[in-house]
Amino acid sequence: LYLDQPLAAGAAVPTSPGQAHYLGSVMRRAPGDAVLVFNGRDGEWEARIEAIRKDRCTLLPERQTRPQATVADTRLLVAALKRDAMEWVVEKATELGIGTIQPVFTRRSVADRVNTARLAAIAQEAAEQCERLDLPRIGAPQPLPALLDSWDGVPLLVGAERGDRPPLARIAQGLHAPWAWLVGPEGGFDRLELDDLARRAFVSTAGLGPRILRAETAAVAGLALLQALAGD
Ligand code: SAM
Repeated sequence: LYLDQPLAAGAAVPTSPGQAHYLGSVMRRAPGDAVLVFNGRDGEWEARIEAIRKDRCTLLPERQTRPQATVADTRLLVAALKRDAMEWVVEKATELGIGTIQPVFTRRSVADRVNTARLAAIAQEAAEQCERLDLPRIGAPQPLPALLDSWDGVPLLVGAERGDRPPLARIAQGLHAPWAWLVGPEGGFDRLELDDLARRAFVSTAGLGPRILRAETAAVAGLALLQALAGD
């Protein structure tokens, strides 16, 4: 369970009303039962339920079960996709351990707004389910040129579905985290965007095989591959 509170032995912490409902009514937990909690800073703790009723629950952290690990800030930059696809990508990228999910507006993005609060809630649920000890950061959506102009130089691999581009697996072999993976919208990047990307020294375009993948498939397949070969 994610708690946005400091965790220390013997210092009681309240859950949110939603978490209290989940623990009491869905999981049928009672006072004295143990729950694992994390806050993204203090590692994982075993906590006892001190008191629980309907929408209120207090937990008492007892002992740390895992320390907080430091992980590199790997990043997924994904064009604003239709809502369902975007939510699926956030869930899967969180399970795969991504550090930052950055929605990007491109010239062919179909969505013109992104509900980042909803994405953050999905990321939190996915983090709890897969037992990672931090939450990915969901960046405020930005237009692609602005993002590239303020880029900090981390290697940025761009999924390109056509043309002469090396396989992502080959590029990933020479990389170490942190890295970033950029995937275009349903309609792909346009020529001007591809030209702009090609001019940037930190960018490499990369392929995931000869088939045209859905943006969400490309996002997750690229992450799995980069994580396996380049780390974190
Ligand atoms: N509408 C485009 C077309 O038919 O040419 C396809 C765009 S594709 C659905 C969306 C995004 O997924 C692309 O911008 C690219 O970033 C990524 N992508 C899809 N297939 C890929 C592949 N085989 N290799 C690398 N990236 C791919």
